[in-house]
Amino acid sequence: MKGWKWILLIVVVLIVGGGGLFWNLLTRLTIERLSDDLHVVRGSGGNAAILKTSEGAVIVDTMLLRYQGERLKEEAMRLTGKPVVMIINTHYHLDHTHGNPAFDIGTRVVATERTLHHLKVTDAEYFADEEAEALMPGEVFSDTRRITLGDKNITLLHPGRGHTDGDLVVLFEEEATLHAGDLFVYQHYPFIDLEAGGSVDAWLSSLRRVLALPFERVIPGHGEVTDRQGLEQFRRFMIEAWNAVTMASAEGKNLEELLETVELTEDAGYTEIKLVIGIGLDRDFLLSTMWQDAHGEVPARP
Ligand SMILES: [Zn+2]
Repeated sequence: MKGWKWILLIVVVLIVGGGGLFWNLLTRLTIERLSDDLHVVRGSGGNAAILKTSEGAVIVDTMLLRYQGERLKEEAMRLTGKPVVMIINTHYHLDHTHGNPAFDIGTRVVATERTLHHLKVTDAEYFADEEAEALMPGEVFSDTRRITLGDKNITLLHPGRGHTDGDLVVLFEEEATLHAGDLFVYQHYPFIDLEAGGSVDAWLSSLRRVLALPFERVIPGHGEVTDRQGLEQFRRFMIEAWNAVTMASAEGKNLEELLETVELTEDAGYTEIKLVIGIGLDRDFLLSTMWQDAHGEVPARP
């Protein structure tokens, strides 16, 4: 298991070990209505979306636990009156995919080719049994795909590398709403999965391609629902941080000097995600990962 997966697992074990109260916190879901047909479900793990179509419900991302997947399936039925006919996984990380096995065999599962590849490489054990394997992505694409389900149209776009090399964004066309997966976290510091082909430089171009899509609202991978300006602000912060890293590098500074002297303004109001004591998604962790990227220190897996 890779380092970040251990961290997540430790958090889960600590929380679950703490008793029922923490289990409730871990599994609590909050539901936000964006329109008659579109809801966002937030909880521990990535944000999920539930779209009602005349042919059934579509779920984008299934959170961290099989139990959460079961809850999402129930909520989809309650909110739309229809069973889930399609899951879309924005990328392979366990906090967006591990609810998949809770859904019925025969549910269509859509992702990019790279997402399926990473799931096979890193998560073979989790999806080992026959039922779980049936909920691995079975419909994959590499660049863009448009799906029509009854009265709804969905555009899927892999805009390029970024958080991983296989992220997709989901445009709910009738709702003018985008689910950006972890290519966008709202007012949090992002994680760059260099081993899975993540790249800061490519991320900036990918976000430009995403911003060209016609949408008004954005569901981030983590954090609150926002609008186009929220996504533009995140891109400005990524540019500011990346410029700081590449300039420090050009000036011959080392990482410690960068962390001591860096001045950033675009992350005002950002919240750190503390995973365990001393480890978390904060500014220093992000800059350190960007530094590794700038110096080619983490080879991407094949
Ligand atoms: Zn992720």
